Amino acid sequence: MFHMQNDPFKIMFSACLKKAGIILFFLFLPASPAFMQTTEVHPYKEKQEAMVRNQIVARGIKAKAVIEAMRKVPRHLFVPYNTRSFAYNDQPLPIGHDQTISQPYIVAYMTEALGAKAGDKVLEIGTGSGYQAAILAEMGIDVYTIEIIPELAETAKRNLKRSGYGHVNTRCGDGYAGWPEEAPFDAIIITAAPETIPLALVEQLKTGGIMILPVGPRDSTQSLKKVVKKSKGIRQATLLPVRFVPMIRSYN
Ligand code: SAH
Repeated sequence: MFHMQNDPFKIMFSACLKKAGIILFFLFLPASPAFMQTTEVHPYKEKQEAMVRNQIVARGIKAKAVIEAMRKVPRHLFVPYNTRSFAYNDQPLPIGHDQTISQPYIVAYMTEALGAKAGDKVLEIGTGSGYQAAILAEMGIDVYTIEIIPELAETAKRNLKRSGYGHVNTRCGDGYAGWPEEAPFDAIIITAAPETIPLALVEQLKTGGIMILPVGPRDSTQSLKKVVKKSKGIRQATLLPVRFVPMIRSYN
């Protein structure tokens, strides 16, 4: 009688399948985003290195932790799929809902100006794609970020998770209210432009804490400002002329 179980060909075939399975496992492992994150190997690595060299270091960004974070965070995982090849270009990019991910240099400049270090607690208003939050998280900062557009808040959460920054604290809501339960913060970064400095957010800063934000009218040049909270009042300085999307009061 013919026994399938003992068929030498079948035994050999199944042994081969097992081996092939193991080989396939290792072949496919590098395609998983988590693995890409730890090895830092991805198809845009050269573009990313050139971005750091030509847009960040050459233009005067000095903070080592910021440069390292820009070198590490996979920016192409924070832009729409069809624009990935432009992710490391010297420009902002659309992320849907009339919003944009900031130009790499502006992200680096604002992060350096914020002066936050590993272990600090930082609030971001305007999560957008999640990229700025990922840069801060890569620096070992404890990040809280608020986005007013629900679809963007969801996408950002996904982007952060798949690139290894799932521990960033995200919230969908109005950034003008801040995150009072988690206040005070060592620093606050706002990546949409209010018309005046939001005092409710200054309230949520520690004394000596720094807030970096664009201030000015919508659809016009605004000023990037650095606000330092003093024991009585604030001190402010203007850093750069910039153009950001407006910080809105509500979204329907
Ligand atoms: N930091 C982002 C870019 C932000 S674009 C990044 O790295 O990709 C500005 C974002 O601020 C937009 O997503 C916009 O929806 C959001 N925004 C505007 N007004 C807001 C508000 N009142 N509260 C929270 N988010 C707001």
